[in-house]
Amino acid sequence: ATTAGNSSPAPAQPNAADGLASTYERQNATFVTLARNQDLWAVVGSIREVEDRYNHKYHYDWVFLNDAEFTEEFKTIVSSFVSGKAVFGHIPPEHWSYPDWIDQEKAALVREEMNEKKIIYGFSEPYRHMCRFESGFFWRNPALDAYKYYWRVEPHIKLFCDIDYDLFAFMKNNKKSYGFTISLYEYEATIETLWKTVKGFMAEYPQHIHPNNALNFISDDGGETYNLCHFWSNFEVGDLDFWRSDAYRAFFDYLDKAGGFFYERWGDAPVHSIAAALLMDRSELHYFNDVGYWHVPFQNCPVDEETRRRLHCTCPSDDSLPPDQRNIFTWRGYSCTPRFHKVQGLERPKGWIEHTD
Ligand code: GDP
Ligand code: MN
Repeated sequence: ATTAGNSSPAPAQPNAADGLASTYERQNATFVTLARNQDLWAVVGSIREVEDRYNHKYHYDWVFLNDAEFTEEFKTIVSSFVSGKAVFGHIPPEHWSYPDWIDQEKAALVREEMNEKKIIYGFSEPYRHMCRFESGFFWRNPALDAYKYYWRVEPHIKLFCDIDYDLFAFMKNNKKSYGFTISLYEYEATIETLWKTVKGFMAEYPQHIHPNNALNFISDDGGETYNLCHFWSNFEVGDLDFWRSDAYRAFFDYLDKAGGFFYERWGDAPVHSIAAALLMDRSELHYFNDVGYWHVPFQNCPVDEETRRRLHCTCPSDDSLPPDQRNIFTWRGYSCTPRFHKVQGLERPKGWIEHTD
């Protein structure tokens, strides 16, 4: 049940007035945001960031998904901020509920235990449905059927720099399937048996593991253990056809059967990342250095002064801050992005600084 926003203006087409070349080729792409009605103003804030820095030139559509019905107020206000078509999708209950093989009493006990251990979101039932939904179902929502590429946007995010090219066209022209801005280490307590499960999948479905995979981004010992590196999935620019593939469906089903979305607190970030690292050609992964991005509490910001000025970045330059306040997270110890550059054989951007703190 997908309804276009009533008050959404006719979708504006990009044209020369937007400063786009006459050869500009619009992509089959959309933004996608999962949100609750009470997230309205935080969603509007994120839309404004994305419109001001990027979408005012391209007018891509924006799909909003919710496990409850969006209110008329939500739809009207949100539609008035999106320069493309705003589409409001409903999540069917079977994409946001317990599969029949899950023991719900056991799951409730786990939530109590994880709460006592103060594990982040350990107590939360909706958070687990959200992580399972983002892993296995967002890309199956009918509202996304028409699109090939997506950009995931969450409430409360910021974009620090202008984006002066079409990210979706970049994906297509460079044969990329998964793009990220931030990568980091996962809390081990949330995924204790995830890697064991992934190894089971690899043994049972070797035909789905890409011969040119990026296993060495997520494992330091050839696959024996997981090094906890993952792409932070609150920002993703990706190819929906990857999630729709037989390989990923088999991967998700295998994980879902194992029960870790409920008996632990598996996040969609490690699930997406492990899948992207194992099932894709490693050349399909992309780090967007020039997309200045913030989601509490980490940020990505170009370090190169020329880039920062050209793109009108508002994140403070690292050099301007005392060491204990520097927050160009990307090149610091808790980020996996230096490792990504190493294993992919990429040159680091001009101006990166090694931090040992
Ligand atoms: P965090 O980024 O891991 O701290 O988690 P968030 O609270 O930002 O949730 C991740 C995404 O899922 C955001 O886009 C939220 O708006 C959305 N979300 C989280 N819980 C729910 C929920 O229960 N219902 C709906 N509709 N969206 C949710
Ligand atoms: Mn968030």
